[in-house]
Amino acid sequence: MTVLVDTHAHLHDPAFDEDRLAVIARARAAGVAGFLTIGTDVATSDAAVALAAAEPDVYAAVGIHPHDASTADEAALARIAALARAPRVVAVGEIGLDYYRDHSPRPIQRTALVAHLQLARAVRKPVLLHCREAHADLLDICGAEEVDAVGGILHCFSGDLTVARRGIDLGLLISIAGPVTYPSARRLAEVVRALPLDRLVIETDCPYLPPQPWRGQRNEPAYLPVTAARVAELLGVSTVTVAAATTENASRLLALPPLGPAATPPLA
Ligand SMILES: [Zn+2]
Ligand SMILES: [Zn+2]
Repeated sequence: MTVLVDTHAHLHDPAFDEDRLAVIARARAAGVAGFLTIGTDVATSDAAVALAAAEPDVYAAVGIHPHDASTADEAALARIAALARAPRVVAVGEIGLDYYRDHSPRPIQRTALVAHLQLARAVRKPVLLHCREAHADLLDICGAEEVDAVGGILHCFSGDLTVARRGIDLGLLISIAGPVTYPSARRLAEVVRALPLDRLVIETDCPYLPPQPWRGQRNEPAYLPVTAARVAELLGVSTVTVAAATTENASRLLALPPLGPAATPPLA
């Protein structure tokens, strides 16, 4: 029995309002046995927790995305802290730094990141880290805030091998998303080839970033096996090997209950 875990999805997103249960059902049929639906502000964190309460194989993460760091005032952080203690909330995220879009001022992004890292330590749950063009600052802050006490995931990894190795030294897992299937993603392919399988997980980041066959369309977790297959190709191992390792890595970090036959059909 080999199943996949989608370690980064936004299933509560309005993009799925018309057919959310069908999307989840298609993913289960494709072998996805666990889903992490991830909030990016207070409202979406509430929505993520509600969806996780309704679906047995969906788990939630709560946090304020760097884009929305300007909204991370005392009241918002208090609400996130309360949600973070809920039983089906398995991580704090999506948090991080984004110096590519700069939707919130950088000092405010850094302050929000520190607050969330401290929350994660207080509730003893791992972190889900978003990072664009800010890897040096992100890793410095994670190191200073002792992220290795809780662990975490560098989601939709976009850095180079040096960054990946520093993240691994801090106790983080590296998550590979749909862009690894793009013909232009040569640097990412090189990074994946050099990484140990016991530090890798996979994700969709749906509704964003669909794998190559669906570029330009809405992404959904049923497409995750395509990313798993590409990672397997790069590592020179079978897709079943990648599925088993990434599911074990995710399950251990996120303290998920056993996933598998009772909940889902096998990976085709
Ligand atoms: Zn992200
Ligand atoms: Zn995301």
